[in-house]
Amino acid sequence: MNPSSGILNYGQDSKWAHPTVRPEQNAMRMKVGSKRMCMQAPTVEQFVNAVKQTVHSNKRWVPPPGKGAMYIRPLLMGSGPVLGVAPASEYTFITYASPVGNYHKGVLNLIVEEKFRRAIPGGTGGVKAVTNYAIIYKPIAEAKAKGFTDVLFLNAEKYIEEVSTSNIFLVKGNETLTPPTSGTILPGITRKSIIEITHVLGYQVKERAIPVEELFDAEEVFCTGTAVGVNSVNSITYQDTRIAYKRGAGTVGQKLYEMLTGIQTGRIEDKMGWTVELD
Ligand code: PMP
Repeated sequence: MNPSSGILNYGQDSKWAHPTVRPEQNAMRMKVGSKRMCMQAPTVEQFVNAVKQTVHSNKRWVPPPGKGAMYIRPLLMGSGPVLGVAPASEYTFITYASPVGNYHKGVLNLIVEEKFRRAIPGGTGGVKAVTNYAIIYKPIAEAKAKGFTDVLFLNAEKYIEEVSTSNIFLVKGNETLTPPTSGTILPGITRKSIIEITHVLGYQVKERAIPVEELFDAEEVFCTGTAVGVNSVNSITYQDTRIAYKRGAGTVGQKLYEMLTGIQTGRIEDKMGWTVELD
């Protein structure tokens, strides 16, 4: 069981690494997730120091400005001598890094997943555990075989949950909506950031249960995640009907993308206190 998180680090001008984005939020999510998984998490300070060290040791791999980012993945695993089904007696905490480009190359065309369920109430769907990803390989493979980019998961009552590795937002008139984090979706750090900046931009995000039928009257849909940033959805197919959405200039998704990446890369002043300089 390995609750893991992703953190981005951007190269900028002559500085080799600036800034690292919200590592302490990722540390806190790992702490909460570890409780559910009966694991012992590192402290926030240990976590953030490990992230800083990883970036320092890998600075030559940080992509130049505009060419991507350094993705840092902290990993916690049980490593003690336990053979039975029980929490481990010891834990190993690792952070590793990889340069990344654009996560979703090209246009995002989703299909609503009706056969497979990503999470169940009372399960571990709200934890960033690697075991949650084993569940989604098959739905993604089937969607890709039909020409889609990714899947949108529903709960048993046909309410919208999330995309395989990102949270989802709908724009309907003046409202921006996202499903609540009630234990079956991952409480994304980017989701949280978007809720905070949407507010700054004069919009308000409503967190509420969204029946799948509401996909039909949304003008815009976008996904959020550490790797994807904010990614506007081109279409969603539900029960053989393809619903197309607005993308590009003037959309809420585009404005949020500009603001989020602006803060992350230092182009826009970080009044939110999200970015952490490396010592
Ligand atoms: N949901 C799932 C299932 C994910 O894997 C991710 C990516 N970490 C997200 C949502 C978005 O979370 P975050 O913004 O913290 O990257």
